[in-house]
Amino acid sequence: MSKEKIEDKSKYDYSFDYIQKKLEGKKDSFGMLTREIIRTGICTECGTCAAVCPVLEWDHLAAQPKLIGKCTGCGICYNQCPRTITDPIQLMGDFKTGYVANTNIPEVIGGQDGGTVTSLLCYLFDEHLIDAAVVTMKDENNPWHPVAQIITNKDDAIKASGSIYSHSHTVEALMDAIRADYRSIAFVGTPCNIDAVNKMMISPSGMLKYFMRAHILTIGLFCMDSFAPEALYPYFEKDGIALEKVQKMNINKGKFHVYYEADGEPIKSYTIKELDKFKSSSCNFCTDLTAENADISVGSVGSGPNKNTVFARTGIGTEIIQDAAEKGYLKIEPFDTINLNSVLFLAKLKKVSQYTIQKRKVFIVKDTEQKEEPKIRTGPEEEKPAVAKPLGPRKFLSVSKILNEEEKILNISLTNTIGFVLENMKIRIVTVEEVFEKRPWITTIKEMFPYETVDIGYPLEVEEGEPINANILVEASTEAFGKIFYRTLKITPKE
Ligand SMILES: Cc1cc2nc3c(=O)[nH]c(=O)nc-3n(C[C@H](O)[C@H](O)[C@H](O)COP(=O)(O)OP(=O)(O)OC[C@H]3O[C@@H](n4cnc5c(N)ncnc54)[C@H](O)[C@@H]3O)c2cc1C
Ligand code: SF4
Ligand code: SF4
Ligand code: SF4
Repeated sequence: MSKEKIEDKSKYDYSFDYIQKKLEGKKDSFGMLTREIIRTGICTECGTCAAVCPVLEWDHLAAQPKLIGKCTGCGICYNQCPRTITDPIQLMGDFKTGYVANTNIPEVIGGQDGGTVTSLLCYLFDEHLIDAAVVTMKDENNPWHPVAQIITNKDDAIKASGSIYSHSHTVEALMDAIRADYRSIAFVGTPCNIDAVNKMMISPSGMLKYFMRAHILTIGLFCMDSFAPEALYPYFEKDGIALEKVQKMNINKGKFHVYYEADGEPIKSYTIKELDKFKSSSCNFCTDLTAENADISVGSVGSGPNKNTVFARTGIGTEIIQDAAEKGYLKIEPFDTINLNSVLFLAKLKKVSQYTIQKRKVFIVKDTEQKEEPKIRTGPEEEKPAVAKPLGPRKFLSVSKILNEEEKILNISLTNTIGFVLENMKIRIVTVEEVFEKRPWITTIKEMFPYETVDIGYPLEVEEGEPINANILVEASTEAFGKIFYRTLKITPKE
């Protein structure tokens, strides 16, 4: 049925007007449908969007919806599309009660946001509801590096307040606490930490389901992303930031702020976009903003400054928050739709970020302008360790080779395995003949993203009719880490 044929102000118009009213104030629109679903290539071409909207029609040539009038931004198309995520429970999980909360304990003021997590821990210790808690503190010898700790009193809970925006090995500390015979434990962690514990508690082969029984109360922190300290902190230091003087870091409205005084002005602020390359690669694949599997989830979005958004998701979680408030540890207010909409908006951003992930692959088919004279090698060079920060034995690159015998090309694939962006990586490939290095190929990759692969075709010099026999040296270095890869590949016709 064509759109012109819907003439009478019928049930169709009534539904359209009704839903339009319901969606008022939301930011869903055809623009969002285009950005998230159509341009990312996940549209199933079902045509639902065009079927429900009077100003959309199906463009058969482009195989996508097309505007034929003025879009009012009502969001109806977005909310019918089978590929968008619009259901609040899908976006932030189920919960029993939502609160805006902050501490009522004077020593805790100065927590990350409202000090709710720390206040809950204080309440749990005072009421003897837990005998230990797993928290994350700053490493005393390595500023701003996270260390997961078992604590057994509220003074340590207060010392642990504040956020460190990096992965912390909280589950290792939890297992240590259980092995040390603590049986009632509060566990504070990011959504990925909570998922690990949750799986260990409920999966049929979960370690905490049958053995090592302990009561674990999970307190999840909202989390949009975390950063690789090995990459982020040198970047801060280059900007003159002395990490040992930093009192607080926080993320607010798309900016990462660094403070020398916790309640002063930031000494430096970065856009999250600028720091995106230092994000832990796992966070690109993460869809949980609000710790959907925790007993209690705590974050800052939606609550205003110095307060927390809190979701009590289980019966025990609700009871603890109510009792902590009644006993004067927490101030709680009801959570309203305005608060909820901010959380939903950010949760949606996180869920849909999956659609725009694309694994990049860079192909280099010829060397760049950088030239180098052939060298005489004085002896086999040892693989030099990276001059890097405390990365331990982690490998930066994995390298594989395939020989194209017909075209006499060695295809070398280098993959970034370090989990953050490698910047200005110089790759040098040479043929080694006895003591001589010949035919150098040098290229610089400006940015190599985590798990991105660079394919390089290196032509081999082979006499007509002769078998292929060559030693090809591949080395890679970056300004920040020095030499990160060095290996001689032996090439024979059987390769
Ligand atoms: C990596 C990360 C990303 C975050 N991103 C967001 C976000 O995008 N939006 C949002 O609303 N909130 C985010 N948060 C949560 C926010 O920073 C606060 O932790 C939360 O609002 C609780 O505030 P609070 O005042 O109650 O915390 P506090 O009372 O100060 O207590 C904080 C607790 O967090 C623990 N902790 C600190 N760092 C870590 C860590 N790396 N891993 C595990 N536990 C840790 C401490 O042990 C402490 O017990 C993030 C937190 C982290 C750690
Ligand atoms: S008018 Fe409403 S339903 Fe139609 S395209 Fe715009 S947002 Fe979508
Ligand atoms: S409703 Fe969604 S999936 Fe269906 S055609 Fe429109 S954009 Fe594509
Ligand atoms: S974004 Fe996800 S994977 Fe990354 S730290 Fe947060 S919860 Fe973990």
